[in-house]
Amino acid sequence: MRPFLFFKAMLPLVVFLGTTVCFYGQKSFLKGKLLAEIKSHKEGLAVWWTGHNGWLIKYNDILIGTDLALESKDRAVEAPISAEELAQELDISFISHEHGDHFERETSKILSQNGHCAFVMPANCKETAIKELNIPEDRIEVASPRTPFDIGNVKIEPLRAIHGNPKFAVFYGANLEDCGYLITIGGTRFLQMGDTVLLEDHLFLKNVDVLFFSPTEHNTHIDPSIVLINELEPAYILPQHRNTFTVTDQNRYWTTGYAHEVKFRLSKPLQERYHILEIGERIDIDTNKD
Ligand SMILES: [Zn+2]
Repeated sequence: MRPFLFFKAMLPLVVFLGTTVCFYGQKSFLKGKLLAEIKSHKEGLAVWWTGHNGWLIKYNDILIGTDLALESKDRAVEAPISAEELAQELDISFISHEHGDHFERETSKILSQNGHCAFVMPANCKETAIKELNIPEDRIEVASPRTPFDIGNVKIEPLRAIHGNPKFAVFYGANLEDCGYLITIGGTRFLQMGDTVLLEDHLFLKNVDVLFFSPTEHNTHIDPSIVLINELEPAYILPQHRNTFTVTDQNRYWTTGYAHEVKFRLSKPLQERYHILEIGERIDIDTNKD
């Protein structure tokens, strides 16, 4: 084939690959930038997305994180902050369940060795934490669904989470120990659902201010996400479990979140509360409720 014809024939592929590369291209983060931003935040409530279900929430000088998977080699987009950078700053690390994209072993190990944070996790993660990662037992708080407790000024209400799988089916290995968390900090209530299909436990919640939900095939996908959002009417709606890990046909059910598909089906007022963040992006939470 003549070079021009060959190029013409390959053009769709080039365009396709180009799009893929753009979408999942390695975004480079300036080392130390996010850490500096977190450190300089001293008043009010701010949230940063580190990818997947990894959120950092800072209220005045308290910093907490959920499902931090900063060191995973399977990420398509690098983490905007390393576990080592974060270790000295973090006060509480929440883990929803044992899967590696949520309880990322390397991140937890580094946080434990280099910092002081407490780890909140379901009972089924505790043995791994102690035996494999050498996390001291006195730094672990075991969370059980529907049994609330406090750490300092942070109120923690662990929720039931029933893990889904492809084709909207409940996971064969789903269990009753996995958790979601309703976290109250500075009077603001954050719901981190963890990996779960939609449950009445979620619909019965009142006064959720900030919602972290996962519009993937194996979580609340599109329709159940809309039911959830319409019921809770949170002030901030933040889709997660997306745009972080490399997508393949085999893992699409958990790597792809349908954030835009959910958004355009919501009412205009709810769309205004809906924020599809980039990895490393920050959102300030208005704590003035009236
Ligand atoms: Zn997951």
